[in-house]
Amino acid sequence: MSVSWRRFLAGLSMGLGLIGVPGSTVAERPPVSASANGEQADAGPGEVSLAPRGGYRSEVERAWFRGGADLGTRATRTRIRALELGMDNVEAAARALIAPGARGDSLGRAMLAVRLAPDLPMAHIALAGAHWEHGERRPALEAVVDGLLAIPRHLEATVWLASSLLVMFAVALVAGSLYFGASVGVAAFSHAAHDLGDLLSRSMPAFARTALLGSLLLLPLLAGEGVLGLVVALFALGFTYGSPRHRVALALSAVLVVIGMYPLARVAGTALSALDSDPLADAALSVVRGTETSEELERLVAAAPDDALAKHVLALKVRRLGLADAAHARYTVLHAENPRDPVVLTNLANLRFQRGDTAAATDLYERAAGLIDSPTLMFNLSQSYARSFRMEEFESAMQNAQRIGPEIVAELSRNGDPSFVADLAFPMDEIRGRLIKGARGSGFAEALRRPAAPGRLGQSWLATSLGFAAAAVLGLLVSGRWRHASRCARCGARICARCDGTVWNSEICDGCHRLFHRPETTDTALRMARLGELRDRESRLERVTLAASLLVPGVGGLLAKRPDLAFVSILFFAWAGVSLLWRDGVVPDPMAVGAAGPLAFLLMGGMALLGYLGVVGIAQLVRRSQ
Ligand SMILES: [Zn+2]
Ligand SMILES: [Zn+2]
Repeated sequence: MSVSWRRFLAGLSMGLGLIGVPGSTVAERPPVSASANGEQADAGPGEVSLAPRGGYRSEVERAWFRGGADLGTRATRTRIRALELGMDNVEAAARALIAPGARGDSLGRAMLAVRLAPDLPMAHIALAGAHWEHGERRPALEAVVDGLLAIPRHLEATVWLASSLLVMFAVALVAGSLYFGASVGVAAFSHAAHDLGDLLSRSMPAFARTALLGSLLLLPLLAGEGVLGLVVALFALGFTYGSPRHRVALALSAVLVVIGMYPLARVAGTALSALDSDPLADAALSVVRGTETSEELERLVAAAPDDALAKHVLALKVRRLGLADAAHARYTVLHAENPRDPVVLTNLANLRFQRGDTAAATDLYERAAGLIDSPTLMFNLSQSYARSFRMEEFESAMQNAQRIGPEIVAELSRNGDPSFVADLAFPMDEIRGRLIKGARGSGFAEALRRPAAPGRLGQSWLATSLGFAAAAVLGLLVSGRWRHASRCARCGARICARCDGTVWNSEICDGCHRLFHRPETTDTALRMARLGELRDRESRLERVTLAASLLVPGVGGLLAKRPDLAFVSILFFAWAGVSLLWRDGVVPDPMAVGAAGPLAFLLMGGMALLGYLGVVGIAQLVRRSQ
């Protein structure tokens, strides 16, 4: 369930080179041990060593560590080299720039970090923080928005956010629905206890009746059915004593419990385990990010003969090591196997273009252009036309490129190098697909269920559904068999047709009925005294119910005889609770989202809290108008 920390640690080694030195000097010492020296021949595929060359894992790393005297130059050179090698985001360097220990101008560093890794949400958030420190409120807010918008563009950030949200949603839904089902039962408890006592003996004291019903309700707990068993028992009680409105809300809560405990928990578990689900996809992702370890490379090499993803990512690795001939050999094999893969077509074309085989490169670019719309590809095509002096086609390809992605084309043209072409980024869909395919959510769903539903009721969605359905049917069947005890709305006295003889109705006791509706039958002085008592009771109760409605979720709605409001307020409360509880996410941020995550969760929690207060307020108004 933990996020891949190896990738983070591997990235840090690239970053430490920066943290250790002031921003104005170049780190002379390479970050990776140079013992595995890159003295190797550019042999055919499979024979070339993937060990760091001269201590650098890639030409991008080399550009970063030897890129120039000042940070700005280094970042520019690194960015160009990275674009050339299809690395859209130099995350390790960007993280190093915004690391807490980094010295120097925080704003300048954060801006460079965003330039190096525009899809890394935490870079934008760091920029927002730096703007804020400088008192620049508007740019700070814009950077926060940019950071949130970057989340969908970043695989690890997306998976992290989605898994946290899904887990929180599942937990809030299940906890809120179970709590609601229980609370309707609890509200009916004292009446049910009284009625049950009447069945045995009318003179049974109240505490004995409570103990009797209480022990009956605890039976499922003793039978090992856990909280779910207790809730199902209370659910039956709520169904027996509730109005049709209560029953509809209860049925909905049961449906939501089943959805939350089974399909939703499984989806959440799948998302949660995705980043660690497939060691090979994990290693491929590390290579794409430029943070791979030697073990990850070994894993890929071992799998490569039969694994398309490993084969593709190793070609990328060889290319990034700067081994042009070996990369050409590998991309040629990839192209033979996948003749219609636009990324392979373009990157093979780049290698041919750099070898001087412009005609072959142009042909491959044109074929790729028939498959995808990419500003980078159109830029490359325009470069190849320019080299062959096909100026009209150059113009039109360049215009096309600028139309699709003006910003990226401006960046690619900046150094004005006629031999510069840029690789297409590795298709993340291939990695994403593998991660999701390999992820298994059922283990997590089971772990999530076990504390609340350890018994037979929690074994499958069918068992849980049948449990609730049986409770509902039982409630409906027995509900009309006896006259239910209730309480007087005016004085709170128990009303029971069996104990009291005749009763006026279930809402108001005989005494109150005479007092309010037939005043001629009562003594005036006594009547005034009694009315005064009731008024005192009412104002006392008013204060207590307001406090209880705010502090105990659902009380406000149930007192207003609006179970729907009670349920909604409970769900709001549960959502606020989980977003505060997990404000840093359910699992640690994979060094991608930064403060954007907690910010988003706190905002959601705050909004849920407002929603809760709003519904409690509505329930209060409804109760007073009754
Ligand atoms: Zn009364
Ligand atoms: Zn009774």
